Amino acid sequence: MKIGFVGLGNMGTPMAVNLTNAGHEVVGFDPVAAIPEGVTKAQTAQEAASRADVVITMLPNGDIAHSVASDILPVMTKAAVLLDCSTIDVASARAMDQLAQDHGIGFLDAPVSGGVAGASAGTLTFMVGGSDSAFTTAGPLFDIMGQKSVHCGAAGNGQAAKICNNMILGITMIGTCEAFALADKLGLDRQAMFDVVSTSSGYSWTMNAYCPAPGIGPQSPADNDYKPGFAADLMLKDLRLSQQAAIDVDADTPMGAAATALYQTFVEQEDGAGQDFSAMLPRFEGRSRS
Ligand code: NAD
Repeated sequence: MKIGFVGLGNMGTPMAVNLTNAGHEVVGFDPVAAIPEGVTKAQTAQEAASRADVVITMLPNGDIAHSVASDILPVMTKAAVLLDCSTIDVASARAMDQLAQDHGIGFLDAPVSGGVAGASAGTLTFMVGGSDSAFTTAGPLFDIMGQKSVHCGAAGNGQAAKICNNMILGITMIGTCEAFALADKLGLDRQAMFDVVSTSSGYSWTMNAYCPAPGIGPQSPADNDYKPGFAADLMLKDLRLSQQAAIDVDADTPMGAAATALYQTFVEQEDGAGQDFSAMLPRFEGRSRS
C-alpha cells in the first residue's frame, strides 16, 4: 500500500519503520522530528497524504489532529482511509469522522496501548472505531504495527475504549500504591503483600504485571528507577480526557475524578513529571494522612 504518515514522534517513527520493513511505501511528514530511514520525506502533510491509500496520523492532541485532518482530507483520494492513531478526545474523533464523511473518505479512530516499546516491537493493541469497510482496509496495517485490533463500533468508540481502560488503570495504580504504603506502615513485608494480593481478589495488572514496588514481581519501571514505561504525564492526559468525556455525557466518575486530581498534583506540583506513573508508590511512602 501507499501510506502517508503524519506525526513521526516517539510512537509514529517506529510504527512507520515497521510498515516500510513490511514492504509498504511510506511518505512521512513531521514539522520537527527527523524522518526515519526508508520513509520518503514530504514537505507538507498534504504532500504525504495526496497519493496514499491510507493516511496515518499520530499526533499530540485533538485540536492538532482535527486541524491536520481539515488540511489533508481535501487532497486525499476518494477510496482512501484516514487512520488516526493519536489519543484524543472522543468529540474530536467524531468531528473528524464527520469531516471525512463530508469528503467521501473513510475514517477510523484507532488509539493504541503498548507504548514506545510496543510500537517498536510491532505489538501494539489498537482500539478501533469506524465503519466495517474502513476497518477491513486498515486490517493488514494493524497486523504489522500491532498484535491485536479490536473493532469497538462506530467512530469515537476506539477513543472511548482507550480512556475507559486508562481510567481503570490510573485508579488501580493509585489503589495498589496506597495499599503498599499502608502495608509498609503496618509492618507487612512487601514480598508477602505481593504474594498474597497477586493470588487473591485484590490482584490486578498493576500488581501482577507492573508491580510499583522495586524488586517485587516481574521486571517493571520500578526496577529502573521509575523511568517510563508509561509516563505520569501521559496518564494525566488520558485521565483528563476521561473526565472531559464524562462531563460531555453526564457520567458520574468519582474515582476517575480523584485519580485525575492526584496525578495532576503529582505531575504539576510535585516531582511526577518525567517519571513512570507507578512512581505514585514513592510518593505515598512515608506520607501521613494530613
Ligand atoms: P510525540 O510528541 O513524540 O510525537 C508527536 C509528533 O507530532 C511530534 O514529532 C510533532 O512534531 C508532531 N506534530 C505536532 N504537530 C504536528 C502537525 N501539525 N503536523 C504534523 N506533525 C505534527 O508524541 P508520541 O509519544 O509519539 O505520542 C503520539 C500520540 O500517541 C499521542 O496522542 C499520545 O497520547 C499517544 N500515545 C503515546 C504513548 C507513549 O507511550 N508515548 C502511548 C500510547 C499512546
